Amino acid sequence: MSQHANAPLSAIVTGSTSGIGLGIATAFAAEGWNVMLNGFGDADEIEAIRAGLESDHGVSVHYNGADMTKPEEIRGLVEEARSAFGHIDVLVNNAGIQHVSPVEEFPDAKWDAIIAINLSSAFHTTKAVFGAMKERKHGRIINVASAHGLVASPFKSAYVAAKHGIVGFTKTIALEGAEHGVTCNAICPGYVKTPLVEKQIPDTAKARGISEEEVVANVLLHAQPTKQFVTVEQIGALAVFLCSDNAAQITGAAHQIDGGWVAQ
Ligand code: NAD
Repeated sequence: MSQHANAPLSAIVTGSTSGIGLGIATAFAAEGWNVMLNGFGDADEIEAIRAGLESDHGVSVHYNGADMTKPEEIRGLVEEARSAFGHIDVLVNNAGIQHVSPVEEFPDAKWDAIIAINLSSAFHTTKAVFGAMKERKHGRIINVASAHGLVASPFKSAYVAAKHGIVGFTKTIALEGAEHGVTCNAICPGYVKTPLVEKQIPDTAKARGISEEEVVANVLLHAQPTKQFVTVEQIGALAVFLCSDNAAQITGAAHQIDGGWVAQ
């Protein structure tokens, strides 16, 4: 983003206390960008992450614990980032949860929570940053979708619905930002070994009537022709690229980073 080359970029990454979001936040800090962290977890551990990123990379890192199911708190997060950094160049909508269950047993509350966190929160954050990005003719929005934004698996009805939804939302925001220097892209990872994936192994074993070892070998890595998990560092590097000047003409796209899963 050369028009602001002398100023560090400022980024919000939702759900960045763990897993992929933390990987993206770390990659951004390593580029010298200021970062607003968000997500749940132990307060001391979060403070250690925040302070560690600041001291390792000499950048400004803030934390706001907004609950992504609460639009008022989401607006507060964006306002805090704006007053801390002066402006917001990059928004990464990453926070997400999963629940694995046959549809006839799928709890209503889990459906509502997954749609709120994995889909609606991106609407609320985008709405709060978009006007200022357009005015500055400068902005990058990245939605962490999933291979499940492009294809389905059984027992993940809410997650697959939310992730397909966010791929559609990405395209609309790309069109609305196209003449204003604002790009919007989705990253569609395959399986990454984060707490979100570790937690679903027992439930998938139960839903499919197989062992946890069989879930890893025959369900998770079976989906990926490379037979390897994607890493958070690889996703962080893709996010950095999508924020660069060289990515200025890349918008409205769903970028697979899935070991070949969706190619099958
Ligand atoms: P994770 O569980 O390690 O991290 C999820 C993050 O979201 C955490 O920081 C958590 O505190 C935060 N979060 C959860 N609920 C929240 C809420 N209500 N408000 C604010 N923050 C909240 O999971 P992950 O695997 O790193 O997943 C991150 C994103 O990547 C999700 O959108 C997920 O769907 C997507 N994804 C993950 C995989 C994978 O294999 N791990 C694959 C494709 C897509």
